[in-house]
Amino acid sequence: MISYGVVAHGGAGSPMELSDGCRAACESAIRMLDAGEGSLDAAVEAARILEDDGRFNAGTGSVLRIDGRTIEMDAAVMDSAGKIGVVINVREVKNPVLLARAVTGTPHVALAGRGAEVFARQLGFAPFRDFSMRVGRRAPSDTIGVVALDKKGVFAVASSTGGASPMMVGRVGDTPMPGCGFYAGARGAVAVTGLGEESIRKMLARAVYDMIADGTGAREACEKGVGMFAPGIRMGAIAISRRDWAAAAKDAMAHWSIIRE
Ligand code: ASP
Repeated sequence: MISYGVVAHGGAGSPMELSDGCRAACESAIRMLDAGEGSLDAAVEAARILEDDGRFNAGTGSVLRIDGRTIEMDAAVMDSAGKIGVVINVREVKNPVLLARAVTGTPHVALAGRGAEVFARQLGFAPFRDFSMRVGRRAPSDTIGVVALDKKGVFAVASSTGGASPMMVGRVGDTPMPGCGFYAGARGAVAVTGLGEESIRKMLARAVYDMIADGTGAREACEKGVGMFAPGIRMGAIAISRRDWAAAAKDAMAHWSIIRE
């Protein structure tokens, strides 16, 4: 049985060598959880560290859109206590996950584009343009995601992405779509990574969560979820429940976990 803990991933297809970034994120989150802080804040802090890492396709390391000059990012947070916050296609924000966290304090669930950026400036987030500006048909690593359980039994998820490349300006993937890229409920939390257009079609995060809620272990649920897609489709998932945790992907996926039994 898991008392509390955290799991982080660096994206479907990310090389295992990048797991040290996930480890640093988990170490920071577990310090918060050890101290009795909530899973949502711990997951957000871990995601912020991964956004700032620069090697992942999120925050500072976000990839360029197909026009070769635009960066648009999505992020989402959710916990089993009812908090949910999403930002979609934000530009010039260093940490979209902090903005998504801030949306949970508004009457809304999601803010997109210019309105989200105006909200960021109102919160005092300075305009940020110091992205690594990676170009490429495919990012060397992908979306980041974190799931956590705290001492009070609250589950949380935080995810952030620069998208999937190549992609059109304005394209939105699964990362900010509830039940597709992320889900947290009373029985667990799930973060999904991979080809967003495909995971949206199957609402993968909710499908994995439903299996866990029905009594399937997190490992089996993640493996079955990832297995729902044709061989060539990049997909990965992490999950945590009271019973176990899992990280499953079709190919490599950098990840780390720190679990207190
Ligand atoms: N799911 C992300 C998206 O489609 C990309 C990824 O996880 O690799 O935007």
